[in-house]
Amino acid sequence: PGGDAFLTVTDLHAGYGEARVLHGVNLTVGRGEICAILGPNGAGKTTLLRALSGMVRVRGAVRLDGADLTRRPPDAVARRGVAHVPEGRGTFMPLTVEENLRLGAFVRRGRGEVEADLERIHGYFPVLRERLRQPAGSLSGGEQQMLAIGRALMLRPRLLLLDEPSLGLAPIVTRELFRIVQTINEQERTTVVVVEQNAHLALDVAGRAHVLETGRIVLSGSAERIRADEQVAQSYLGYR
Ligand code: ATP
Repeated sequence: PGGDAFLTVTDLHAGYGEARVLHGVNLTVGRGEICAILGPNGAGKTTLLRALSGMVRVRGAVRLDGADLTRRPPDAVARRGVAHVPEGRGTFMPLTVEENLRLGAFVRRGRGEVEADLERIHGYFPVLRERLRQPAGSLSGGEQQMLAIGRALMLRPRLLLLDEPSLGLAPIVTRELFRIVQTINEQERTTVVVVEQNAHLALDVAGRAHVLETGRIVLSGSAERIRADEQVAQSYLGYR
């Protein structure tokens, strides 16, 4: 990753009560990079994202751009510029698309800024503009994922955490979604960490990837290198 590490995770342990899930994760993500976290079900990928955004108790260290985020509550982490799009999207179904988007600005002030951000997000996701007054629950799966990412962008995040964005979506919809994420990454220099079961699609957009197995990173490298790894190919890429 070179000298410009933006996110640094050191010897991170986390779990739920007695259940230990992460057993000393070490990870560096460069500034402006798209990083994919791959791995089998139950490896702890979701828990890793929760640990990064302050939603589970951790031991070890999480640093963002030099600032210590370890053991800060989720709202404090969000204020430091970390936006988390959870698995299952976390949109509020009875609320309209617009209400959902505005909720994303909850840690910010400045009404003018919020209006400008709504415009900016409509630029990335034109379909959301057409659906502003509809309840989020009436959107398709792909549109809901766009809404969830749009809501996260209302935070003007420096780090965007995406948990399994492809869940339940057709590959062609996921590809379109990832293309937009790539555009956001390029235009706003937002660093992205994406957890994905669909390794092929994730490796198409990521610069680097890490494989998590039973709570430990077992392999890290450039997307090309991870794609070329035989073990990874057998375990995660076999279904293409
Ligand atoms: P998946 O792709 O299936 O979501 P994952 O790699 O994201 O898998 P996690 O969701 O982080 O894995 O789960 C890791 C382990 O932690 C699993 O054994 C899971 O059962 C357990 N776990 C997850 N959430 C909780 C919770 N809230 N309470 C207790 N155990 C949990």
